[in-house]
Amino acid sequence: MMKLQHLFGIADLDKEQIEYLLNLGESLIDVSRRPIRKAPTLRGKTIINLFFENSTRTRTSFEIAGKRLSADVINISASTSATKKGESLLDTGQTLAAMRPHVLVVRHSISGTCQFLSEYLEGTSIVNAGDGSHEHPTQILTDLLTLRQAGGYENKVITIVGDIAHSRVGRSHLLAATLMGYRVRLVAPKTLLPAEVERYGCEISHDFDAAIPGSDVLYMLRVQTERLTDNCSFPSIREYHEAYGLNRKRLAAAGKGCLVMHPGPMNRGVEIASDVADSASARILEQVEHGVAIRMAVLTALCGDTGGEG
Ligand code: ASP
Repeated sequence: MMKLQHLFGIADLDKEQIEYLLNLGESLIDVSRRPIRKAPTLRGKTIINLFFENSTRTRTSFEIAGKRLSADVINISASTSATKKGESLLDTGQTLAAMRPHVLVVRHSISGTCQFLSEYLEGTSIVNAGDGSHEHPTQILTDLLTLRQAGGYENKVITIVGDIAHSRVGRSHLLAATLMGYRVRLVAPKTLLPAEVERYGCEISHDFDAAIPGSDVLYMLRVQTERLTDNCSFPSIREYHEAYGLNRKRLAAAGKGCLVMHPGPMNRGVEIASDVADSASARILEQVEHGVAIRMAVLTALCGDTGGEG
């Protein structure tokens, strides 16, 4: 049984830990397919979801994951919390930690929020559910589990297309690729690539059509409008879709075996055409299903091997 103290990012995990979480996640997929979707693993554990940014998939899947493993789960969103009354992040964190949860699941727009909180909140495990454009580790574990279920990720070419500059998902994939043995190809306009992107040592292209041959996965990213500081990253939605949107023609050029993935939320008609999102090549809803299993695995690893007694 592996015990994790916190989960801040892929950068803090080694290959063995990732494989452990994937194995555990894989074994937990079945819990959500049973008529009675409940296991006793986290009985007596308390999990607080503290979300300062919007979320559908991540927040709900952490909640369902905790509940399916019999933990008590409490959800707090910034819009209904005392941060609206001027309370600082640290005061909110310390207040919640004083109620002695085992795990605090945190999403925040500022990179490094989880590490920061962990320095002050002793005895509470913290898991990063997305911090600014820094990291989103449980999304990447989810994607790896989805790829594993679809035949594996090793030596595969994953072409990540879109707003790489502001995407924590893109960044976490770049970190995971070297560790786990798959290749990442980045496709984006210059304005949506991070500074010093060359240091990741991956292929970079501004031409989506040229990057399609040889791709095993086309991984589409949403333009993170909430993080854009200007409105000149691309000329218009129509032109963006034409240059960087995944449409039927591009999917056909990728070939039959190429999978389509997206971390959600999708903006249909922007980074992905609606018929492609609903096509047989898409693994987008599988990603959602596996997200529950992976979050079960992560919560179990954070709570350690004490089962319901601790
Ligand atoms: N859901 C992912 C995230 O929180 C991707 C996105 O929002 O576009 O980073």
